[in-house]
Amino acid sequence: MSRSAHPAGPRHADVLPEGHYSAPPADLNALDPKVWAQTVERGEDGVVTVGGIGVTQLAEEYGTPAYVLDEADFRARARAWRTAFGTDADVFYAGKAFLSRAVVRWLNEEGLNLDVCSGGELATALSAGMPADRIAFHGNNKSPEEIERAVRAGVGRIVLDSFQEIVRVAHIAQSLGKRQRVQIRITVGVEAHTHEFIATAHEDQKFGIPLAGGHAAEAVRRALQLDGLELIGIHSHIGSQIFDMSGFEVAAHRVVGLLKDIRDEHGIELPEIDLGGGLGIAYTSDDDPREPHEIAKALTEIVTRECESAKLRTPRISVEPGRAIVGPTAFTLYEVGTVKPLDGLRTYVSVDGGMSDNIRTALYDAEYTVALVSRASDAEPMLVRVVGKHCESGDIVVKDAFLPGDLAPGDLIAVPATGAYCRSMASNYNHVLRPPVVAVREGEARVVVRRETEEDLLRLDVG
Ligand SMILES: *Cc1c(COP(=O)(O)O)cnc(C)c1O
Repeated sequence: MSRSAHPAGPRHADVLPEGHYSAPPADLNALDPKVWAQTVERGEDGVVTVGGIGVTQLAEEYGTPAYVLDEADFRARARAWRTAFGTDADVFYAGKAFLSRAVVRWLNEEGLNLDVCSGGELATALSAGMPADRIAFHGNNKSPEEIERAVRAGVGRIVLDSFQEIVRVAHIAQSLGKRQRVQIRITVGVEAHTHEFIATAHEDQKFGIPLAGGHAAEAVRRALQLDGLELIGIHSHIGSQIFDMSGFEVAAHRVVGLLKDIRDEHGIELPEIDLGGGLGIAYTSDDDPREPHEIAKALTEIVTRECESAKLRTPRISVEPGRAIVGPTAFTLYEVGTVKPLDGLRTYVSVDGGMSDNIRTALYDAEYTVALVSRASDAEPMLVRVVGKHCESGDIVVKDAFLPGDLAPGDLIAVPATGAYCRSMASNYNHVLRPPVVAVREGEARVVVRRETEEDLLRLDVG
């Protein structure tokens, strides 16, 4: 078995260290409820269903690849976050994870608020009827036009990200005769990654205004002086796909420290703090995410404790989960095109999509699992790498997984936990058409984002 004959580097011919991949699961037909949407199950005929509809039927009606979204699961997760945080806190769904008008309506109905970070996301939110005062506008480089649209629309808050933006938003609001509610995004020197976090004095990144060096305090000073702004709180977002709550603990400690300094200097207690999003989900069976009620309890306790020791009234908390709501609710359905065994190494399974519908594996080295969903199989497991159809050897969807050894062209396979940052980051690389999003609920399926067509492509290309 050759494991060292490929000098081309990891993107070209990855040479796996021994034991990199885990052993095959005991039952390849089983679907771990941790990584699959709530209503997904395998029927007696072996076909996997979601919301009561078989994937073979979905593939026939809507084609592949397709993102299949479990609406009941989405609503249940949104509701679970809302309920967990109760009426003394606000849950803002981070639209960048996946935004469509149907999703906006579901969020609205379930009582969640919405984060947007571009004019396009704002337009989508408003066009689907999200009340502007429940929208927060984020971003490190909002254009003056975007700011003006947001202020005119009456968004509930703009999260200020730089000294220039403090002045820009104040000026625009004032010229429109408005006073805009704002938060200031600060960086507290906490970098959280999955199972660990690093607390430092400084944070080397483009977002926010550093707490270190008195910059955040200076930003507050300036915002408080400007008539166009109503400063309602401080914002901190520490990372993504986080499992360990201790990063939030350090962040909350530092944010509350700033609130205390503000009280001491200005004699005011800011009424809100936003702790951002970033809560992790299970992409594979190895991940163990927390439930919303555990997260709510932990965050509320941390903030309450910190405020008590600083002798501050506990501010209203907001959180901004994106992935944790939509991530687990969708899977990507692909048809197998070719199956190419490389002796002694692995089998390459090519699907009809790839890095254009899921860039996370190439971009972040993300882990995914995959299952044969159009039938059950008792064949021996084979080690596979699921790859796309793009002209790029880094076009990998699932790095290492096991599928039944009798896998053949025409089989349908599905990659779970693709609800977040897949459709929203999808591209047209190789002029591949972006897949539709099909929402399924109680035996009914409907397209909420249609498949792109060649006509769509050609319409943009004006010759
Ligand atoms: C990306 C982002 C989120 C959402 O992150 P998830 O990992 O999807 O929960 C929330 N708030 C801010 C400011 C973000 O940039």
